[in-house]
Amino acid sequence: MKNIDTICVQAGFKPAQGEPRVTPIYQSTTFYYEKAQDMADCFDLKSSSYFYTRLANPTVAVLEEKLTALEGGSCAVCTSSGQSATMFTVLNVAHAGDNILASSAVYGGSFNLLDVTLRKLGIETRFFSPDDSAEDIEKLIDDKTKLIFTESLANPAIVVLDFDKIAKIAQKYQIVFAVDNTLVTAALCRPIEFGANVVVYSTTKYMDGHAVALGGAVIDGGNFNFKGNPRYADFNEPDESYHGLVFADLGATAFGIKCRAQLMRDMGSMMSPQNAFLTNLGSETLSLRMAKHSENAKKVAEFLSKQDKVEWVKHPSLKDNKYYGLAQKYFPNGMGGMMSFGLKGPKENAVKFMEALKMIAIVTHVADARSCILHPASTTHRQLSDKALQDCGIEPNLLRLSVGIENAEDIIADIAEALSQI
Ligand code: PLP
Repeated sequence: MKNIDTICVQAGFKPAQGEPRVTPIYQSTTFYYEKAQDMADCFDLKSSSYFYTRLANPTVAVLEEKLTALEGGSCAVCTSSGQSATMFTVLNVAHAGDNILASSAVYGGSFNLLDVTLRKLGIETRFFSPDDSAEDIEKLIDDKTKLIFTESLANPAIVVLDFDKIAKIAQKYQIVFAVDNTLVTAALCRPIEFGANVVVYSTTKYMDGHAVALGGAVIDGGNFNFKGNPRYADFNEPDESYHGLVFADLGATAFGIKCRAQLMRDMGSMMSPQNAFLTNLGSETLSLRMAKHSENAKKVAEFLSKQDKVEWVKHPSLKDNKYYGLAQKYFPNGMGGMMSFGLKGPKENAVKFMEALKMIAIVTHVADARSCILHPASTTHRQLSDKALQDCGIEPNLLRLSVGIENAEDIIADIAEALSQI
């Protein structure tokens, strides 16, 4: 199985003769053993059998295997939300006194997590602008820098990641490079092929695609050598809670296994079997949907860019977009359904326009089958100061539009009608 559309449908679950064709929901917190030693082996990581759903569950494992195949990684850990996936990615490599580098153009929830909550835990995030030069970004690195965190397509700033620039820095300093791939997904871009070591997801978005299941994932690229790297002492020192196991000795799965064995064990945040089932089902149509989202978004972006009442439109499919070149290079098969635009006149026009829409709904969510819209400055990003908003690339009049898979003509007709009312 090497094609993404086949992986979406077939990877993960392989029933034996007479078993259900569709992944069963193993709605059980715990698993039965006859011999105490067999269960003890699970606790010692000597056996990979299931014993408690906080650590692993067969339904969740099906989705983890599919995500691993989709991204071309070595293993994956599913989490209860995208937020916990980002948090685990950081905590797996950094602790109090360490720092990480992150693009300032990340999703507002990730920005808060990094800038406020993890800072309170003693982990400093040093933000860089995605447009900064490699030299300027390198100036932020010291021997306590444990991670570089970015988004392949930033939500909602619609900034396309310059993978080469960041991958070269990460390789030069041997720092783990993590990419949140939520908004383009493996159907359009596989970050590991461009040098990422870890891929992060909010599976809540396109992966599920129907807005029914919250979830996240951390996928280990299997391409980072922790062994002997002085930056990652935690990976090279024996973990006494696993009888002296040295995670770096696990090679390609060191990051993923440490994430599950230490963080999932101690902090929970496992994806529920029900949500794994729903996400897995949704993911079967991922590549079909991403193609349609991309096609529709291109048409909508072209329409918007010709409207007098529209001040600006950001979608990397537009030739005059700042990131057009990068998008052609990294997302040649489509750029997904996310775009942003600003209306002329006072910022109240944004709210007036949204309320005049009939089909496109005002929701916090993005990236599911239905078109939806949001004004981040007054909702998702309302906690951010004007300066922080600017750093994230969010203008006060920015409207975030998530173009769905309805017929493009109907989406455009709804927008045209609402524009006529402002
Ligand atoms: N990463 C990105 C790019 C997002 O857009 C979101 C949510 O919108 C998250 C992470 C957080 O995911 P969740 O809402 O599943 O916690």
